[in-house]
Amino acid sequence: MSKVALITGASRGIGKQIAITLAEKGYDIAVNYRDENEDIKPVEEEVKAKNVKFLAVKGDVSVFEETEKFVKDVIENYGRIDVLINNAGITRDTLLMRMKKEDFETVIDVNLVGTFNVTKNVIPYMMKARSGRIISLASVVGIAGNAGQTNYSASKAGIIGFTKSLAKEVASRNILVNAVAPGFIKTSMTDVLKDEIKEEIAKSIPLKRMGTAEDVANVIKFLASEDSSYITGQVINVDGRNAYVICSKDNQHLALLNFI
Ligand code: NAP
Repeated sequence: MSKVALITGASRGIGKQIAITLAEKGYDIAVNYRDENEDIKPVEEEVKAKNVKFLAVKGDVSVFEETEKFVKDVIENYGRIDVLINNAGITRDTLLMRMKKEDFETVIDVNLVGTFNVTKNVIPYMMKARSGRIISLASVVGIAGNAGQTNYSASKAGIIGFTKSLAKEVASRNILVNAVAPGFIKTSMTDVLKDEIKEEIAKSIPLKRMGTAEDVANVIKFLASEDSSYITGQVINVDGRNAYVICSKDNQHLALLNFI
C-alpha cells in the first residue's frame, strides 16, 4: 500500500513542489489549500501525472476546526497519514516600530499556531500506527533573526522549539519530527523583493544563487524517507551557506532595504 503525505499550503511555491517531488517517489498526495482559486489545478495535474492518488482539502491552518475537518477528510479518503509537511506560511514584514499587533498575531497564528493545529489533529493517527514523519518549514531567520521580521522570525523560532520538543515526546512511537530552515528561495514569497536586492542576496551567498523550491523539496524527500530513520529533532538549513548568517550590507539586512 502506498504511503500518504499531507502537505499544507501546497497551492504554489515550495508546498506545490513538495507535493510533486513526493508524488514522484510514489506517495499518495493530499494537499491543503486555503482559497478557492485556479492554483490547485496545475498541482493536481502534475501530481496525477505521476500515477498516484491526489486529494485537495480546503482549510485555513490557523483555524483549529478547519484543520480538524480537513485532516478527517484525508483519513476518510486514504485511511492513513504517514508524512505531514507543515508548509503553509505567510510574512507581514515591517519594523517593530511600525508593526501593528494584528501583523504580529496573524503571522504567529498561521505559521506557528497553524503548525500546532494540523500536527495536533494528525498525531493521534501516527501514534496508533506507531510510525510517522512530521516535517515543518522553519527558516534561517528563526535561527539568526532578521530586521523587519520580528513576527516571522518569532514564528519560525517557535516552530524550531515545537519540533525539538515534539521529537522527544513521540520518539518512542517511532514518529520522527524535524524541521527544514530554508534561506532565500525563489517563490512568490520572495518575488516581492526588488531585483537589485535579489542580485545582492545571490552575490552574498557562497553558492552564488537563491535556492529553488526543488532544493527544499529534495531535503524533505530525504527526511520523509527510510534513509533518514535515525534523524529526529533536527533543523536542516537549506540556504547555500555554512553559517547562521543572513546577508547584510552596511549593517542593513538586504531584504529590509526592500521596504525602508
Ligand atoms: P508562498 O509561495 O507564499 O506559498 C505559501 C503557501 O501557503 C500558499 O499556498 C498559501 O496559500 C499557503 N497559505 C498561506 N496561509 C495559509 C493558511 N492560513 N492556511 C492554509 N494555507 C495557507 O510561500 P513559499 O515561499 O512557498 O513558502 C512555503 C514555506 O516555506 C512557508 O512556511 C515559508 O515561511 C517557508 N520559507 C520560505 C522561504 C522563501 O525564501 N521562500 C524561506 C524560508 C522559509 P494561498 O494561496 O491561499 O495564500
